[in-house]
Amino acid sequence: MKLIDISMEISPDMKVYKGRDAKRPLLTLDSDFSSGGSHESRIEMNLHTGTHLDAPLHMMPGGDTIESIPLEQVARSCKVLDLLRAAEKITAADLGEKDIRPDDFVLLKTRNSFEDILEGDFVYLDKTGAALLRDKGVSGVGIDSLGIERAQPDHETHTILFSAGILILEGLRLAHVEEGEYFLVAAPLKIKGVDGAPVRAFLRER
Ligand SMILES: [Zn+2]
Repeated sequence: MKLIDISMEISPDMKVYKGRDAKRPLLTLDSDFSSGGSHESRIEMNLHTGTHLDAPLHMMPGGDTIESIPLEQVARSCKVLDLLRAAEKITAADLGEKDIRPDDFVLLKTRNSFEDILEGDFVYLDKTGAALLRDKGVSGVGIDSLGIERAQPDHETHTILFSAGILILEGLRLAHVEEGEYFLVAAPLKIKGVDGAPVRAFLRER
């Protein structure tokens, strides 16, 4: 069985949202073999660093938290869509030519996966694209940027998707993945009451 890793590696020098130091993980040692009988590490990290799933609470006061998302919603079929032609943002026009059906979980593959733009002007899903995905009835949207949007006041993309109960998966790595259908696993850490959590995301060919 071939599994395709689509996760970012977590390290202090990884790419983080807009290059902000506060988003950078801090790894320290609690003990090593010079100080104890075991090697144990500690991580301090914003929960939206690296490959992660957003919970509705991220943008909606009183919204659902990450541990309430059923596993069935994050271990399921998905469609990778090739959107390499989108230069700055993904719009309804870009998505209109794709085969998107109700209950699809779509992963948006953009030039973010290839170019060194993750911390700056990354390609994002704009509100018209988000509205189209909502109208098509998708269950989830994943993207290869550290935020599904930027440069939109009021976080309209997040709000449109969350209001419709659509999951948002961010920080994917898709350079080595062809457009097509796969089985997706992207289970978040089961942290109680929080607005997002890291996932180890991977695909299985169908
Ligand atoms: Zn996030």
